[in-house]
Amino acid sequence: MSIPPPVSTAQAEALAAGALPPVEEVRPGIWTIAVPFRGGVPDATLAYVIEGSDGALAVIDPGWSDGGSLDVLSDGFRAVGRRLEDVTLVAVTHLHADHLGAAAALRRRSGAPVAMHAAEVRALEHERADAEQNDRDVRTWGVPAALLDGVLAAWGTGRRIGQGTAEAPFADLLLADGDVLPIPGRTISTLWTPGHTGGHVCFVDEPDGLLFTGDHVLPRINPGVGLGGRTGTNPLRDALGSLARLDGYGHLEVCPGHEYRFRDVVSRARVLIDHRDERTRHVADALDALDRPTLFEVASRVPFSGGIESMSGFLLASALSQTAFHADLLGRAEEIRGA
Ligand SMILES: [Zn+2]
Repeated sequence: MSIPPPVSTAQAEALAAGALPPVEEVRPGIWTIAVPFRGGVPDATLAYVIEGSDGALAVIDPGWSDGGSLDVLSDGFRAVGRRLEDVTLVAVTHLHADHLGAAAALRRRSGAPVAMHAAEVRALEHERADAEQNDRDVRTWGVPAALLDGVLAAWGTGRRIGQGTAEAPFADLLLADGDVLPIPGRTISTLWTPGHTGGHVCFVDEPDGLLFTGDHVLPRINPGVGLGGRTGTNPLRDALGSLARLDGYGHLEVCPGHEYRFRDVVSRARVLIDHRDERTRHVADALDALDRPTLFEVASRVPFSGGIESMSGFLLASALSQTAFHADLLGRAEEIRGA
């Protein structure tokens, strides 16, 4: 897959070196602060701090909930002469802990309301029931016995998709497509982009020429789909529609949730769409070649990077679920045994 060149060489160099990128002023009164999180790849979230005309600050995706990460965010605020207590709005692109995680602590510290899409709140509220249904699904996938426990632990009731804190799911402000964030002097609107999760949103800042994409589009990583609870839709179809939605935003600089800022989101979206199309063809070929296969047997014929033989746990679960989404997209889900 072709990779867009960085707008921020400092971010790209830090990524290559495995270091945390520096705080940068993206536009007057708009900064990015990289916040680390443990146990994941990529291992930093790009938080964005936006000053309103009243001097108050909004944060998009404050990052991971771990106490040390909040300190890094606080240090970033200090570097631009501000404090976490100055925050009057926390807006999150989606429910994953590396984006939403610090929202609760930041809200406690500043009193700022937390804004997210209603579908994310619903997913957090249904997390337990969704996970139990996932357990049942996983048992129909034909996963070899030696790998089954790992997949169940990563995909079913053993998994926590959400904020990673003991706190109950919350949102003070529910965002819907087109909603403008309450930041005086700015016009930043919500673009609903389901796929990665059901209530994933991007934020469009036309006056400043910026598009905040969360995990919908990243410069190097191909974001997984259907990773935010059950939506009753095909998350792959949702993601493809959400990528196509970016067509009108090619003139904006892209501020993603990880890696580095880049331009030409339309080309990047096209690469991701083409990659999905190719995978759909591989799933079709596998279904043509096999008679009543299990989902695992279908996925075994799809050239996932490294092949599914090299996978276990979350990676394997994600590859299998995506195979199921492709089969559904083809209208051929019923050809799979156990489905
Ligand atoms: Zn993320």
